[in-house]
Amino acid sequence: MSPNQPIKQALLSTVTKLRWSLTSLHWGGIVDWPRAASPEPISADESSCVGQPATEQENSTDRERALRLIQRELGNCTRCRLHQTRTHIVFGEGSSRTSIVFVGEGPGYDEDQQGRPFVGKAGKLLDKMIKALGFGREQVYICNMVKCRPPNNRTPNSDEIEACSPFLVKQIEAIRPQAICALGACSAQNLLRSSSPISRLRGKIHHWRGIPLVATFHPAYLLRNPSQKSAAWQDLIELHRIVSS
Ligand code: SF4
Repeated sequence: MSPNQPIKQALLSTVTKLRWSLTSLHWGGIVDWPRAASPEPISADESSCVGQPATEQENSTDRERALRLIQRELGNCTRCRLHQTRTHIVFGEGSSRTSIVFVGEGPGYDEDQQGRPFVGKAGKLLDKMIKALGFGREQVYICNMVKCRPPNNRTPNSDEIEACSPFLVKQIEAIRPQAICALGACSAQNLLRSSSPISRLRGKIHHWRGIPLVATFHPAYLLRNPSQKSAAWQDLIELHRIVSS
């Protein structure tokens, strides 16, 4: 070991702690702050498969192929009544080789219009949460319990979730992330087959088919209840710890 190694490690640890503190303040709404340099999101070039070991590139291609097949199987789905009122199916999007899959409840108005998950106000907050973890949106995978918007943004019914969830299961199994983040009660309760409130499901590590799962508040809830952001921040720290280990 070089004599400078312990100093380097101590410096790295200090810089990491400082980055987390500053990002926490910023994410918690303290924006009038000269921002510390946080790690830049990996550029499109860097995040491509170029230069990766062949096995990882092959795995990545396999996952993308699997996701395409799942989407093809879903097709113009009419398996539940939600198809009657949707504009677009919101399949899910992001990196197939991500370490985190975020699972929300279902598409809202903006998502239904655009066919993309979490693109409204709640999506903007989710983007900040993802950034706080040190990722860009394109580096994680985002999807929902149901892929069509429930009328008036109501909570999806259990039969609708039952009809749609086989596709979600296949998506997560295809990606096999290091961790799942369940956003909100609907997602957490259905993935964990629990009726406990989100306030009791959050704050601990669960497992879904062997994959660590952290439950936290839905970003839409956090917009209405900003005082809960600090609790959600603790959940993100746990998530970060899992994917960093
Ligand atoms: S919510 Fe899922 S199961 Fe229901 S119609 Fe849409 S894609 Fe099909």
